[in-house]
Amino acid sequence: MPPAEPRLDHGVVIVGAGPVGLLLGCLLAQGGVDVALCEQRDGDDVRSRAIGIHPPGLAMLDRAGAGAAVRAEALALAGGEVLSRGRVLASLAFPADRPVLVLPQRRTHALLSQRLDRLSPGALRAGCSVSGVRDEGGFVRVRLDAEGRRRELTAAFAVIADGVHSGLRTGLGLGWRRRAGSARYAMADVPDPDVGATALLHCGPGGLVESFPLPGGVRRWVVRAAEDEDVGTAAGFRAAIRVRTGADPAIGSDVVPVAFTARQHVARAPARGRIALLGDAAHEISPIGGQGMNLGWADAGRLDAALRAALADGRADLGDYGRRTLRAARGAQRRSAFYMAMGAPARHGLPLLARELLIRSLGSAPLRPWAAGLVTMRGL
Ligand SMILES: Cc1cc2nc3c(=O)[nH]c(=O)nc-3n(C[C@H](O)[C@H](O)[C@H](O)COP(=O)(O)OP(=O)(O)OC[C@H]3O[C@@H](n4cnc5c(N)ncnc54)[C@H](O)[C@@H]3O)c2cc1C
Repeated sequence: MPPAEPRLDHGVVIVGAGPVGLLLGCLLAQGGVDVALCEQRDGDDVRSRAIGIHPPGLAMLDRAGAGAAVRAEALALAGGEVLSRGRVLASLAFPADRPVLVLPQRRTHALLSQRLDRLSPGALRAGCSVSGVRDEGGFVRVRLDAEGRRRELTAAFAVIADGVHSGLRTGLGLGWRRRAGSARYAMADVPDPDVGATALLHCGPGGLVESFPLPGGVRRWVVRAAEDEDVGTAAGFRAAIRVRTGADPAIGSDVVPVAFTARQHVARAPARGRIALLGDAAHEISPIGGQGMNLGWADAGRLDAALRAALADGRADLGDYGRRTLRAARGAQRRSAFYMAMGAPARHGLPLLARELLIRSLGSAPLRPWAAGLVTMRGL
């Protein structure tokens, strides 16, 4: 007789309670799955990252029961304008039936944590660091450190949602391939009483400057760093905005712009056996275009369905989830690479004129609906 399989601690263990792991946790708990989330942090994640919530992401927040709370705090963008050399090349409106919302990630994260806590109190284990996950064939073993003690959990499936620098992905040999699109940027969120509800994207010769309204009278500025350019200080950041856009926002000398390098990667295999990668652990999407977290949420919707079907009929095949995640990630990465190219520094003359013509044509009446679908993540 084969050895009996152990009684499992959980249906699913999720490693990492970022916004994507949390959303999957909510969906599974809502569907009656016994889910545990292991999160190494013991406090809030206050890093300044995502702000944009696109229609596919909002649909998943609604499905998880967190959409109403997010809508109540978020700012709805009225539209966006693309400019170059002081002229508006294209403008898009975001209709009420496909809204684009803006809310700092730390708030979205807090609202998802609260939702999970209501659905399944105690499912989230903070201060719990996972050091290994092993597929044993009929179940998974998760090794963790919590409160200074080593422990082991067993579950039918494990989901690795431990972020872009995933320590577990490498150990599992699921690959990490570089994709096109890389550049350096700096960003800062600064008070602005006249923030409005329109996003402005300056794609002039000096390189991209983005300006997004945030709730509560705050504006996020994002500046592409040109070669050897100092945009890491308040003075350098403000000067780049002034030179490239003509605007001179009140950015105090105490503001420290956050520098980041946009890169793109995708896992070779987002799922194998009883283990799946999710969110940034499965794909790194350039922040330009604001798609990474939204795409992770869309993946979470697919993985929720796949896991529930697998738990119901005892299968261990998440291959379809893996294939669809790869396809969506590559699509989002192509879009982000395009946005980054549109915001690269460009020489005056033909290269700049050609780019301006392309942006104008995307904003023209026949192509505008298609362009709006592109930037609001239609089809991903
Ligand atoms: C500047 C910037 C702007 C962005 N803007 C947008 C935007 O507007 N829209 C958008 O959609 N996306 C945006 N993104 C991307 C977005 O921030 C990420 O896609 C999102 O945070 C991914 O969520 P996640 O849950 O997959 O990973 P993470 O948020 O990285 O969460 C991973 C979690 O796993 C935990 N963890 C790690 N290792 C372990 C371990 N061994 N054991 C237990 N826990 C562990 C971590 O502590 C963390 O809490 C932006 C990113 C940046 C950098």
